[in-house]
Amino acid sequence: MKAVRIHKHGNKDVLVWEEVPLPVVKDGQVLVEIKAAAINHLDIWVRKGIPGINLPMIIGSDGAGMVSKIGKGVDKFDVGDEVIINPLLFCGTCSSCLNQQENQCYSIGILGETTNGTNCEFISLSQRNLIKKPSNISFESAASFSLAGQTSYQMLINRAKLKKDDIVFIWGASSGVGSFGLQIAKAYGCKVIATAGSKKKCKYASELGADLSLNHYKDDITSLVKDYTKGKGVNVVFEHPGLETWKTSMKILSRYGRLVTCGSTTGPKVSIDLRYIFFKQQSILGSTMGTLSALNGIINFIEHGKVIPVVDKIFPMRNIAEAHKYVENSNQFGKVVLVP
Ligand SMILES: [Zn+2]
Repeated sequence: MKAVRIHKHGNKDVLVWEEVPLPVVKDGQVLVEIKAAAINHLDIWVRKGIPGINLPMIIGSDGAGMVSKIGKGVDKFDVGDEVIINPLLFCGTCSSCLNQQENQCYSIGILGETTNGTNCEFISLSQRNLIKKPSNISFESAASFSLAGQTSYQMLINRAKLKKDDIVFIWGASSGVGSFGLQIAKAYGCKVIATAGSKKKCKYASELGADLSLNHYKDDITSLVKDYTKGKGVNVVFEHPGLETWKTSMKILSRYGRLVTCGSTTGPKVSIDLRYIFFKQQSILGSTMGTLSALNGIINFIEHGKVIPVVDKIFPMRNIAEAHKYVENSNQFGKVVLVP
Protein backbone atom coordinates (compact mmCIF):
# COMPACT_ATOMS: atom_id res chain seq x y z
CA MET A 1 0.00 0.00 0.00
CA LYS A 2 0.97 3.66 -0.26
CA ALA A 3 1.41 6.03 2.68
CA VAL A 4 2.72 9.48 3.55
CA ARG A 5 5.80 8.97 5.71
CA ILE A 6 8.51 11.11 7.20
CA HIS A 7 12.00 9.62 7.64
CA LYS A 8 13.39 12.82 9.19
CA HIS A 9 11.99 16.07 10.55
CA GLY A 10 11.92 19.24 8.52
CA ASN A 11 9.96 21.32 6.02
CA LYS A 12 7.31 19.98 3.64
CA ASP A 13 9.98 18.30 1.49
CA VAL A 14 10.43 15.53 4.10
CA LEU A 15 6.91 14.23 3.31
CA VAL A 16 7.18 11.14 1.10
CA TRP A 17 4.29 9.31 -0.60
CA GLU A 18 5.76 5.83 -0.80
CA GLU A 19 5.14 2.08 -0.82
CA VAL A 20 4.98 0.54 2.70
CA PRO A 21 3.97 -2.94 3.95
CA LEU A 22 0.25 -3.57 4.54
CA PRO A 23 -0.30 -3.45 8.35
CA VAL A 24 -0.76 -6.74 10.22
CA VAL A 25 -4.22 -7.25 11.74
CA LYS A 26 -3.81 -8.48 15.32
CA ASP A 27 -6.49 -9.95 17.60
CA GLY A 28 -9.10 -7.32 18.44
CA GLN A 29 -8.01 -5.18 15.49
CA VAL A 30 -9.77 -4.04 12.36
CA LEU A 31 -8.16 -3.23 9.00
CA VAL A 32 -9.69 -0.04 7.61
CA GLU A 33 -9.39 1.04 4.00
CA ILE A 34 -8.97 4.82 4.29
CA LYS A 35 -11.40 6.77 2.10
CA ALA A 36 -10.44 10.21 3.43
CA ALA A 37 -8.12 11.76 6.01
CA ALA A 38 -7.65 15.33 7.26
CA ILE A 39 -4.78 17.60 8.25
CA ASN A 40 -4.39 18.99 11.77
CA HIS A 41 -1.74 21.42 13.03
CA LEU A 42 -0.44 18.44 14.99
CA ASP A 43 0.72 16.89 11.68
CA ILE A 44 2.86 19.97 11.01
CA TRP A 45 4.41 19.80 14.49
CA VAL A 46 5.09 16.07 14.10
CA ARG A 47 6.70 16.77 10.72
CA LYS A 48 8.84 19.59 12.11
CA GLY A 49 9.82 17.51 15.14
CA ILE A 50 8.38 17.18 18.64
CA PRO A 51 9.86 14.87 21.29
CA GLY A 52 8.99 11.17 21.23
CA ILE A 53 8.30 10.62 17.52
CA ASN A 54 9.50 7.26 16.21
CA LEU A 55 10.81 7.52 12.65
CA PRO A 56 9.84 6.62 10.02
CA MET A 57 6.27 7.61 10.85
CA ILE A 58 3.07 7.61 8.83
CA ILE A 59 1.52 10.98 9.77
CA GLY A 60 -2.14 11.98 10.21
CA SER A 61 -4.69 11.71 13.03
CA ASP A 62 -8.09 12.02 11.38
CA GLY A 63 -9.63 9.54 8.98
CA ALA A 64 -12.69 7.64 7.82
CA GLY A 65 -13.04 4.54 5.71
CA MET A 66 -14.41 1.07 5.24
CA VAL A 67 -13.67 -2.10 7.20
CA SER A 68 -11.80 -4.49 4.89
CA LYS A 69 -10.74 -7.22 7.35
CA ILE A 70 -11.40 -8.09 11.00
CA GLY A 71 -9.11 -9.81 13.48
CA LYS A 72 -9.99 -12.50 16.02
CA GLY A 73 -12.29 -11.30 18.82
CA VAL A 74 -13.70 -8.30 16.92
CA ASP A 75 -17.40 -8.22 17.74
CA LYS A 76 -18.51 -4.69 16.94
CA PHE A 77 -17.68 -4.46 13.23
CA ASP A 78 -18.01 -6.44 10.01
CA VAL A 79 -16.29 -6.21 6.65
CA GLY A 80 -17.94 -3.41 4.66
CA ASP A 81 -18.90 -1.25 7.66
CA GLU A 82 -18.24 2.47 7.16
CA VAL A 83 -16.33 3.90 10.09
CA ILE A 84 -14.97 7.09 11.62
CA ILE A 85 -11.54 6.80 13.23
CA ASN A 86 -11.04 8.16 16.75
CA PRO A 87 -7.46 9.46 16.85
CA LEU A 88 -7.29 9.18 20.66
CA LEU A 89 -5.40 6.05 21.74
CA PHE A 90 -6.53 4.73 25.12
CA CYS A 91 -6.16 1.39 26.89
CA GLY A 92 -9.80 0.70 27.77
CA THR A 93 -8.83 -0.95 31.06
CA CYS A 94 -7.29 1.67 33.41
CA SER A 95 -9.37 3.46 36.05
CA SER A 96 -9.79 6.56 33.85
CA CYS A 97 -10.98 4.51 30.87
CA LEU A 98 -13.35 2.50 33.09
CA ASN A 99 -14.79 5.84 34.32
CA GLN A 100 -15.38 6.96 30.69
CA GLN A 101 -12.61 9.57 30.97
CA GLU A 102 -10.68 8.12 28.01
CA ASN A 103 -8.72 11.34 27.47
CA GLN A 104 -7.27 10.89 30.97
CA CYS A 105 -6.03 7.35 30.16
CA TYR A 106 -2.72 6.52 31.82
CA SER A 107 -1.35 5.39 28.44
CA ILE A 108 -2.92 8.13 26.31
CA GLY A 109 -1.63 8.57 22.77
CA ILE A 110 -2.63 10.09 19.44
CA LEU A 111 -2.60 8.46 16.01
CA GLY A 112 0.08 9.92 13.78
CA GLU A 113 2.12 11.01 16.79
CA THR A 114 2.39 8.01 19.11
CA THR A 115 1.84 5.41 16.37
CA ASN A 116 1.48 5.35 12.59
CA GLY A 117 -1.43 7.51 11.44
CA THR A 118 -4.10 7.90 8.79
CA ASN A 119 -2.36 9.40 5.74
CA CYS A 120 -2.28 6.01 4.02
CA GLU A 121 -4.42 3.52 2.14
CA PHE A 122 -4.95 1.02 4.99
CA ILE A 123 -4.64 1.24 8.77
CA SER A 124 -4.99 -1.47 11.41
CA LEU A 125 -6.64 -0.29 14.66
CA SER A 126 -8.26 -1.62 17.81
CA GLN A 127 -12.05 -1.72 17.47
CA ARG A 128 -12.04 0.74 20.42
CA ASN A 129 -10.82 3.37 17.95
CA LEU A 130 -13.70 3.05 15.53
CA ILE A 131 -17.24 4.40 15.48
CA LYS A 132 -19.83 3.51 12.83
CA LYS A 133 -20.28 6.38 10.39
CA PRO A 134 -23.84 7.72 10.07
CA SER A 135 -24.91 7.19 6.44
CA ASN A 136 -25.78 10.88 5.91
CA ILE A 137 -22.18 11.99 6.55
CA SER A 138 -19.78 11.70 3.58
CA PHE A 139 -16.33 10.15 4.02
CA GLU A 140 -14.73 13.57 3.41
CA SER A 141 -16.83 15.19 6.16
CA ALA A 142 -16.42 12.18 8.46
CA ALA A 143 -12.66 12.40 8.16
CA SER A 144 -12.60 16.11 8.92
CA PHE A 145 -13.85 16.50 12.48
CA SER A 146 -12.70 13.73 14.77
CA LEU A 147 -9.76 15.43 16.49
CA ALA A 148 -10.89 19.06 16.35
CA GLY A 149 -14.57 18.28 16.94
CA GLN A 150 -14.05 16.17 20.05
CA THR A 151 -11.53 18.72 21.37
CA SER A 152 -13.99 21.62 20.97
CA TYR A 153 -16.89 19.64 22.44
CA GLN A 154 -14.77 18.57 25.41
CA MET A 155 -13.66 22.18 26.02
CA LEU A 156 -17.08 23.77 25.92
CA ILE A 157 -19.47 21.09 27.16
CA ASN A 158 -17.41 18.86 29.47
CA ARG A 159 -14.92 21.43 30.83
CA ALA A 160 -16.54 24.90 30.62
CA LYS A 161 -20.01 23.41 31.29
CA LEU A 162 -21.65 25.70 28.75
CA LYS A 163 -25.00 27.23 29.68
CA LYS A 164 -27.38 28.57 27.08
CA ASP A 165 -27.30 32.16 28.33
CA ASP A 166 -23.49 32.29 28.20
CA ILE A 167 -21.73 34.71 25.89
CA VAL A 168 -18.85 32.75 24.37
CA PHE A 169 -15.74 34.23 22.77
CA ILE A 170 -14.06 32.06 20.12
CA TRP A 171 -10.55 32.84 18.89
CA GLY A 172 -9.77 31.84 15.30
CA ALA A 173 -13.11 30.73 13.85
CA SER A 174 -11.36 29.64 10.65
CA SER A 175 -9.31 27.00 12.49
CA GLY A 176 -10.62 23.46 12.93
CA VAL A 177 -11.26 23.82 16.68
CA GLY A 178 -12.59 27.37 16.21
CA SER A 179 -15.13 26.49 13.54
CA PHE A 180 -16.47 23.63 15.70
CA GLY A 181 -16.37 25.70 18.90
CA LEU A 182 -18.42 28.44 17.26
CA GLN A 183 -21.06 26.02 15.99
CA ILE A 184 -21.25 23.99 19.22
CA ALA A 185 -21.83 27.17 21.24
CA LYS A 186 -24.55 28.27 18.80
CA ALA A 187 -26.13 24.81 18.87
CA TYR A 188 -26.32 25.28 22.67
CA GLY A 189 -28.16 28.57 22.22
CA CYS A 190 -25.29 30.82 23.33
CA LYS A 191 -24.39 34.23 21.94
CA VAL A 192 -21.02 33.96 20.18
CA ILE A 193 -18.33 36.51 19.43
CA ALA A 194 -15.79 35.00 17.02
CA THR A 195 -12.55 36.27 15.53
CA ALA A 196 -10.88 35.61 12.20
CA GLY A 197 -7.88 36.98 10.32
CA SER A 198 -9.47 38.68 7.30
CA LYS A 199 -12.66 40.37 6.15
CA LYS A 200 -13.56 37.32 4.07
CA LYS A 201 -13.01 34.94 6.99
CA CYS A 202 -15.07 37.19 9.32
CA LYS A 203 -17.90 36.92 6.80
CA TYR A 204 -17.64 33.11 6.92
CA ALA A 205 -17.71 33.26 10.74
CA SER A 206 -20.93 35.26 10.59
CA GLU A 207 -22.38 32.75 8.12
CA LEU A 208 -21.55 29.96 10.60
CA GLY A 209 -23.66 31.80 13.18
CA ALA A 210 -21.35 34.22 14.99
CA ASP A 211 -23.40 37.11 16.44
CA LEU A 212 -20.36 39.38 16.23
CA SER A 213 -17.29 38.69 14.07
CA LEU A 214 -14.07 40.59 14.75
CA ASN A 215 -10.78 40.79 12.87
CA HIS A 216 -8.09 39.75 15.37
CA TYR A 217 -5.40 41.61 13.41
CA LYS A 218 -7.24 44.93 13.03
CA ASP A 219 -10.03 45.36 15.56
CA ASP A 220 -9.72 46.63 19.13
CA ILE A 221 -11.07 43.38 20.57
CA THR A 222 -11.18 44.48 24.22
CA SER A 223 -13.24 47.61 23.69
CA LEU A 224 -15.59 46.02 21.12
CA VAL A 225 -16.28 43.08 23.45
CA LYS A 226 -16.88 45.50 26.34
CA ASP A 227 -19.39 47.42 24.19
CA TYR A 228 -21.16 44.25 23.08
CA THR A 229 -21.40 42.82 26.62
CA LYS A 230 -22.29 46.20 28.22
CA GLY A 231 -19.05 46.19 30.16
CA LYS A 232 -19.52 42.75 31.70
CA GLY A 233 -17.17 40.72 29.48
CA VAL A 234 -17.78 37.22 28.16
CA ASN A 235 -18.65 34.18 30.29
CA VAL A 236 -16.46 31.77 28.36
CA VAL A 237 -13.24 32.31 26.40
CA PHE A 238 -12.25 29.53 24.00
CA GLU A 239 -8.42 29.74 23.92
CA HIS A 240 -5.92 27.97 21.71
CA PRO A 241 -3.49 30.57 20.27
CA GLY A 242 -1.79 31.16 23.65
CA LEU A 243 0.84 33.89 23.92
CA GLU A 244 -0.54 36.37 21.35
CA THR A 245 -4.13 36.29 22.63
CA TRP A 246 -3.82 35.47 26.34
CA LYS A 247 -3.70 39.02 27.67
CA THR A 248 -6.85 39.98 25.77
CA SER A 249 -8.52 36.70 26.77
CA MET A 250 -8.06 37.58 30.45
CA LYS A 251 -9.17 41.20 29.93
CA ILE A 252 -12.48 40.25 28.31
CA LEU A 253 -13.35 37.45 30.75
CA SER A 254 -16.29 38.32 33.03
CA ARG A 255 -16.65 37.81 36.76
CA TYR A 256 -17.10 34.07 37.39
CA GLY A 257 -15.91 33.57 33.79
CA ARG A 258 -14.32 30.35 32.53
CA LEU A 259 -11.33 30.37 30.21
CA VAL A 260 -10.76 27.00 28.58
CA THR A 261 -7.60 26.27 26.59
CA CYS A 262 -6.45 23.40 24.40
CA GLY A 263 -3.36 24.86 22.77
CA SER A 264 -0.55 27.37 22.45
CA THR A 265 0.05 27.73 18.71
CA THR A 266 1.63 31.20 19.11
CA GLY A 267 3.64 30.37 22.24
CA PRO A 268 3.19 28.55 25.56
CA LYS A 269 4.50 30.99 28.20
CA VAL A 270 1.96 33.55 29.45
CA SER A 271 1.63 35.65 32.59
CA ILE A 272 -1.33 35.65 34.93
CA ASP A 273 -2.36 38.39 37.38
CA LEU A 274 -3.69 36.36 40.29
CA ARG A 275 -5.58 39.35 41.71
CA TYR A 276 -8.07 39.16 38.83
CA ILE A 277 -8.46 35.39 39.16
CA PHE A 278 -9.42 35.40 42.82
CA PHE A 279 -11.26 38.70 42.96
CA LYS A 280 -13.33 37.97 39.85
CA GLN A 281 -13.58 34.28 40.86
CA GLN A 282 -12.53 33.10 37.42
CA SER A 283 -11.55 29.61 36.30
CA ILE A 284 -8.76 28.61 33.93
CA LEU A 285 -9.38 25.15 32.52
CA GLY A 286 -7.00 22.97 30.56
CA SER A 287 -8.39 20.48 28.08
CA THR A 288 -6.96 17.94 25.67
CA MET A 289 -8.67 15.75 23.07
CA GLY A 290 -12.01 14.41 24.34
CA THR A 291 -13.84 11.54 25.96
CA LEU A 292 -15.75 9.05 23.82
CA SER A 293 -18.90 10.88 24.96
CA ALA A 294 -17.46 14.10 23.47
CA LEU A 295 -16.76 12.39 20.14
CA ASN A 296 -20.24 10.85 20.11
CA GLY A 297 -21.66 14.27 21.05
CA ILE A 298 -20.11 16.00 18.05
CA ILE A 299 -21.11 13.12 15.74
CA ASN A 300 -24.68 13.49 17.00
CA PHE A 301 -24.66 17.25 16.31
CA ILE A 302 -23.31 16.63 12.79
CA GLU A 303 -25.70 13.77 12.03
CA HIS A 304 -28.62 16.04 12.93
CA GLY A 305 -27.33 19.06 11.01
CA LYS A 306 -26.69 21.24 14.09
CA VAL A 307 -22.97 21.40 13.32
CA ILE A 308 -21.55 21.32 9.80
CA PRO A 309 -17.93 20.22 9.32
CA VAL A 310 -16.43 22.92 7.14
CA VAL A 311 -14.26 21.27 4.49
CA ASP A 312 -12.23 23.99 2.79
CA LYS A 313 -10.32 21.98 0.21
CA ILE A 314 -9.62 18.37 -0.77
CA PHE A 315 -6.14 17.32 -1.94
CA PRO A 316 -5.01 13.95 -3.32
CA MET A 317 -2.82 12.33 -0.65
CA ARG A 318 0.15 12.17 -3.03
CA ASN A 319 0.12 16.01 -3.08
CA ILE A 320 0.70 16.09 0.67
CA ALA A 321 3.50 18.68 0.49
CA GLU A 322 1.22 21.13 -1.33
CA ALA A 323 -1.54 20.48 1.24
CA HIS A 324 0.80 21.16 4.19
CA LYS A 325 1.97 24.38 2.52
CA TYR A 326 -1.66 25.47 2.10
CA VAL A 327 -2.36 24.86 5.83
CA GLU A 328 0.88 26.51 6.97
CA ASN A 329 0.01 29.64 4.99
CA SER A 330 -3.34 29.80 6.87
CA ASN A 331 -5.24 29.89 3.59
CA GLN A 332 -8.09 27.71 4.79
CA PHE A 333 -11.37 28.23 6.58
CA GLY A 334 -12.15 24.90 8.25
CA LYS A 335 -10.45 21.64 7.38
CA VAL A 336 -8.18 20.43 4.62
CA VAL A 337 -9.00 16.86 3.60
CA LEU A 338 -6.84 14.28 1.83
CA VAL A 339 -8.03 11.40 -0.32
CA PRO A 340 -5.85 8.39 -1.27
ZN1 LIG B 1 -6.79 3.73 29.93
